[in-house]
Amino acid sequence: MLRCKWMGLAENIAKVRENIASAAQRAGRKQEEISLVAVSKTVDADMVEAAYREGLRCFGENRVQEFLKKSEVLPKDIEWNLIGQLQTNKVKYIINNGVALLHSLDRLSLAQELQKECLKKNAYLDVLIELNIAKEESKSGLYLEQVDVFLDQIADFDRIRLKGFMTVAPYTDDRMYLRKIFAQAKALYDAKKKEFPGFQYLSMGMSNDYEDAILEGSNMVRVGTAIFGSRIYK
Ligand SMILES: *Cc1c(COP(=O)(O)O)cnc(C)c1O
Repeated sequence: MLRCKWMGLAENIAKVRENIASAAQRAGRKQEEISLVAVSKTVDADMVEAAYREGLRCFGENRVQEFLKKSEVLPKDIEWNLIGQLQTNKVKYIINNGVALLHSLDRLSLAQELQKECLKKNAYLDVLIELNIAKEESKSGLYLEQVDVFLDQIADFDRIRLKGFMTVAPYTDDRMYLRKIFAQAKALYDAKKKEFPGFQYLSMGMSNDYEDAILEGSNMVRVGTAIFGSRIYK
């Protein structure tokens, strides 16, 4: 019986990998240059384990409680990515607790809390700054023109290791528009990479748009639905 809910998982993963390879090739890049973060929010731990057995090692969660629960029971070599908006009062649970990368640094108060908690625990954290390129009110993230000031503000936060940018594009089928949004993120990433040698990830592209994101220079895609199917929110 249990097998039923995993039906299609291996095929979905194979398909996503194939699409990544094909988009990478069209962009003149190698498949290995693009990291796949399997977004496992709302997905049961046994399903995540099934995906792990298909070779996936990088998973994305947006809620701290859910991440903690899953990371406790799942293999220790999983790289957990936190992709959702992080409340300041949750920071204490994620430092030194197996988070490989935080994708959603979006405000100064969060940076301050991360720095403070890392100092306390003698830790470091790899983070991406989240961009809100289309200035959607429903989304968090910095507007492009706010990035320079923000980088100055956090310049002394030595515990935060800046690794690049993350963005969530507007939900639309207008692919020309999406490509334009992604291209803007890539341009900023390239410019800042010259100043910040630690930059190595441009996290953009989800189930709806990861191929377009790769064509515009993404090297990290966050794919949930195309791997695990539609989410059931409890
Ligand atoms: C849920 C989520 C994803 C995955 O979305 P899908 O459309 O299911 O692929 C990616 N990034 C973020 C920030 C998310 O919250």
